[in-house]
Formats: sequence, C-alpha cells, structure tokens
Amino acid sequence: MIPYLSFEKINGDVRQELSSAFERVINSGWYILGSEVAAFEKEYALYNNTTHCAGTANGLDALILALKALGIGPGDEVIVPSNTYIASWLAVSYVGAIPIPVEPVIATYNIDPALIEAKITSATKAIMPVHLYGQCCEMEAIISIAQKHNLFIVEDNAQAQGATCNGKLTGSMGHINGTSFYPGKNLGAYGDAGAITTSNEQYDKRVRVLRNYGSEKKYYNQEKGINSRLDELQAALLSVKLKRLNDWTAERIRLAAVYNEALKNIPGLILPAIAEGCTHVYHIYMVRTTRRDELQQYLTQSGVGSLIHYPVPPHLQNAYTELGYKKGDFPLAEEIAETCLSIPLYPGLSQEDQSKIINTIKNFFQAGI
Ligand SMILES: *Cc1c(COP(=O)(O)O)cnc(C)c1O
Repeated sequence: MIPYLSFEKINGDVRQELSSAFERVINSGWYILGSEVAAFEKEYALYNNTTHCAGTANGLDALILALKALGIGPGDEVIVPSNTYIASWLAVSYVGAIPIPVEPVIATYNIDPALIEAKITSATKAIMPVHLYGQCCEMEAIISIAQKHNLFIVEDNAQAQGATCNGKLTGSMGHINGTSFYPGKNLGAYGDAGAITTSNEQYDKRVRVLRNYGSEKKYYNQEKGINSRLDELQAALLSVKLKRLNDWTAERIRLAAVYNEALKNIPGLILPAIAEGCTHVYHIYMVRTTRRDELQQYLTQSGVGSLIHYPVPPHLQNAYTELGYKKGDFPLAEEIAETCLSIPLYPGLSQEDQSKIINTIKNFFQAGI
C-alpha cells in the first residue's frame, strides 16, 4: 500500500535533532512562552520575510486573532474564496463578521481577482486570499483592489509556506496573515500549532496580547483575549524542521514536475495549472476528473492512497445554513468538490512508488476501466 501521506523520510531526516530539542525543552523546566517560542518566531519571521511572527495554538486561531487585531467584527464583511477549507470562513464567523464568497479561477482553483470588486459593499473590511493546495494567489491584482477600496488583506497561508507571487512570499503580502503548522502541512508540528505573520508592529503587539488572555503584564488584563499560545515543545521541534523546509519544498516541486510530465495529455484528466508570476509548493497535488469516485476506487483497489480536498464546499456545509446558500450558487467551487482527487506527494515518495501511481492512473484512463 502506498499511503496518501508518510512522515517517514521527514522524521528520518531530523530524528536526532528532534530528540535533542525534546530533551532540551523537558530539562528547561519552562513550557509556555519562553526562549524556544521566541527563537522560532524570529526564525519564521526571517524565513517569511516579515518583521514579526507570533506563534499561536493552531492555524484557525491565527486567522481569528489576525482579524481581531484589525478590529474586524460584527457588521463587517470579509471576502473569502468559495473554494477553500472551511477554516478560512470559520475565522471570519468567529469574530462575528460575514464571509462573502468569491469563485475561483477554474484553472488555478484560487480566488478570481476579476470577481472580487462586484462583491465589495460599504460593509467590506478585508479580503482573505487563501493560497490553496500550495499555490500563491494572484496577489498583485488582489492588492490593487484592496488599495483602491481601502481594504485590509489577511492571507490564509496555511497551505503555502514558501510559495511566491512575483518574488514575494505568501504570508508577507497581507497586512497580517495566518499560517498553520498542523502535522500534514508543509511545515508540520507534532500536534497543533500556528502563527501570525506581519510587518506591522502594532498588529503584532495586539495579537501577542490577544493570544495570552488579553494580557501584556501577567494578571493585568487590558482586553478579553483567548488562550492560544504556541508551546515551547512545538516551537523547538518546528525550529529543527524549518531549517529543512526549503529542501523538502524543492522535493515536492520535483515530484510534481514528474507527475505533470507523466500525466499530461490524458483525455479526461485535468492537472494543476499555475498562474503567471506565481509559484506552487504542492502542499496538495490535486487532479480532476468527472470519473473521480471511480478513479479513487481503482486507486484504492490497486494499493494507492488518495484523499478528496474537499468533498463539500463551505457554502453547502450544514454549519453555514444560516447564510441561505443552495446548490448552484457557487458552481465552480461545487464542480471542484465533485471532481477533485489528491494523489500522494510528499518528501520521501520513492521513484518506484511514484511510477506505480502514474501507471495505475494511466491504466484507469487508457485501458478504459
Ligand atoms: C489547515 C488549514 C487551516 C487551519 O489550520 P489548523 O492549524 O488546522 O487550525 C486554515 N486554512 C486552511 C486553508 C488550511 O488548510
């Protein structure tokens, strides 16, 4: 069986360093908001080309706190992609604002800048681009719309650490941005973890207070915050892995190029396309076919793991019945949900396994299965 995802090589690359980091934290006697978190925040800010980074307990909290730091709340609207993981929408809902969906460019699956302006109202406060599957959104167009309408940009960079648009890194282009270090993300912790990145000192200061009960000085609370801190252990482990992230990303890009070449020109199979000026770090290698369920079944029978990202778009989730959307309201997001299939791509995927995956897919289409 070829699994959809394996951590074997990634863990193998850093096992010794992880163990010593673990020992160091255990022996330090200090487990929350100490030197390990401070060091990782500095390293990640440097990696991400922002002046500040604040660790959080997870990616959803990072987005919630980023929106809160901008003062976004009840009565406000935030433009979000119709095609995204539901966490992007949930962050908007949790601060009391309303997510306003915009359809994607069907070739790239990311929010279509040409459709944003039609959704802007007097209540719109921000645009939340999501660099889905690892591909950077068309940020220049999004930034110019935001500037024209005086809107904030909050990037959801959970899936695209290290991707770029015209040389600028995801997570460095918005006013304040959130990312996730959920284990399966390109930079994954050993549990939940996330971070907020910004080059605005005031926003950074605000989220540091908000993530820690609304307190800057212990036991003195200036506002109602939450408890959402990156812990010392996760920070220490993330510092070890961050040093290898560029190597692992290069490996993802290499594996994607192999798929792109081997699977091109198969009638009925759509491969990922990249927008001009943007790069893709392949958090997910997603293909599309109207025969998705059959293909997935065939892969399973052939011993190849796969996943669907995501089977139900946010507007059709029970959690969002309050917005009153129905099937057909966001046809592109729905079409993607019905046709998408993510195939294995991770550092350590062997040439042999990748060939088997490719041959299985070719067989499915060419042998007329
Ligand atoms: C993973 C993810 C999140 C949330 O991150 P968690 O750490 O799981 O809370 C947000 N947005 C997107 C697009 C994600 O993929």
